[in-house]
Amino acid sequence: MALKIWMDGKYCDESEARVSVFDHGLLYGDGVFEGIRAYNWKPFRLRQHVTRLYNSAKAIMLAIPMAPEAMARQVEDAVRVNGNPDAYIRLVVTRGVGDLGLDPRKCPKPTIFIIAAKIQLYPPEFYEKGLDVVTAATPVNHRENLNPRIKSLNYLSHILAKIEGIQAGVDEVIMLDHEGYVAECTGDNIFAVDLPDRRSQGRKVLRTPPANAGLLKGITRDAVIELALDANFDVREEPLTRYDLFTAEEVFLTGTAAEIISVVKVDGRPTGGGKPGPVTADLLRRFRALATSGG
Ligand code: PMP
Repeated sequence: MALKIWMDGKYCDESEARVSVFDHGLLYGDGVFEGIRAYNWKPFRLRQHVTRLYNSAKAIMLAIPMAPEAMARQVEDAVRVNGNPDAYIRLVVTRGVGDLGLDPRKCPKPTIFIIAAKIQLYPPEFYEKGLDVVTAATPVNHRENLNPRIKSLNYLSHILAKIEGIQAGVDEVIMLDHEGYVAECTGDNIFAVDLPDRRSQGRKVLRTPPANAGLLKGITRDAVIELALDANFDVREEPLTRYDLFTAEEVFLTGTAAEIISVVKVDGRPTGGGKPGPVTADLLRRFRALATSGG
């Protein structure tokens, strides 16, 4: 069935959904977006996604001509209209149509559209065998250039990193920040699981890079942190180096589409015995229970 795209106030068939060649989202990557997943008609953590969208827009001085509550209702409506209870939703706001100069003042009206599509997942065998990843030479954007917390339409550094992974024949890549600390993957956040240490009082330790250091603060990442705290892990948001990943008991990625997926090899070093580990599996079970019960 053809998708119904909500665009600037009304639905149209996907074959008719068009943006102008003068839209600054296209010409300059000037815009923001969200990727949201519905479980049984209910978009997971919709409020957090909408808040992140409006914060991204605020950071680039893009005024969205719609209240956040109305935007959230529109996302729910797009899921219903497309008749897909488990849709992957792409919510996009661009600077809008302007002229060929980059002056945003020439764009009087932002373009807004919502696509509620079929979800594209890693195939099931990737969850069973885990991912082989390498570190990309391309770092994430410097936080004072284009802060990675802004989910902007400019994904070129992440795409360049992805191309490095494709050329290396691996499943995903790890991106570092400009200081060489681990930041994130091209579309996912990253966690390392370690055995209990002196500080953790017998609990296993979950570590992930701090969001303010320059990475996208994933909605899945935040849900996993909450679930891990409930499950009595010692959760630490602290800088990680590649060494921390090489020596971790388990490494996994989190993201809206992937949910939680194991990494079994980092730059050729098997992590956690080279197969998906029990903590990753446990957190994935907890995450799916949370997502399917309404988040
Ligand atoms: N980092 C990047 C660069 C991403 O594009 C995404 C996906 N939106 C994530 C992390 C994970 O974020 P979330 O859990 O909100 O999907």
